[in-house]
Amino acid sequence: MASQEIDTLASALARLPGLGPRSARRAVLWLVKRRTGALLQLISALETVRDTLVECDVCANVDTQNPCGICADPKRDRHALCVVEDVADLWALDRARLFTGRYHVLGGRLSALDGVRPEDLNIAALMERVADREDDNRVDEVVLAMNATLEGQTTAHYIAERLEDLPVRLTQLAHGLPVGGELDYLDEGTLAQALRARRPMTG
Ligand code: ZN
Repeated sequence: MASQEIDTLASALARLPGLGPRSARRAVLWLVKRRTGALLQLISALETVRDTLVECDVCANVDTQNPCGICADPKRDRHALCVVEDVADLWALDRARLFTGRYHVLGGRLSALDGVRPEDLNIAALMERVADREDDNRVDEVVLAMNATLEGQTTAHYIAERLEDLPVRLTQLAHGLPVGGELDYLDEGTLAQALRARRPMTG
């Protein structure tokens, strides 16, 4: 029988993506044996994250500054905007600076099954960004970098429709992404190729 405290920690860890109850219990035991090492580091890292991370008001990336480092970087191409489902996708694409423009994080994907509607996603802010035709911020290309899943593609088509009347070039990642492929599971070579060979969005 584990103590209440261990159970509480194990249940908290078991809620993390990719970690079931069994691996959570193993992680707890591993940490308990390393109270002065790994456990302390974890506590300190969690506290730092809690105290310093904020969501960017412009793109919804997560960073220690707002606007985030990408939005604030003057060397970034302000005329190219890459729309992704989640921050993890942004990180995947930005890991090797595959994309030199800026990003917009939707915070999910449309899903009839999970009841995710357009108004649940960060779409209104996207429309505003693209509709802003001021020279400095004028977006000329929107890359729809949704995951190659049914819901990802439904989301991409929905956004393409909403942006249809705006004078921007709409592109999407090239085919060759594995069907069902989530961007942050792909290696950099595959991502780079999908981005380089991006093509006009079709209906
Ligand atoms: Zn940002």
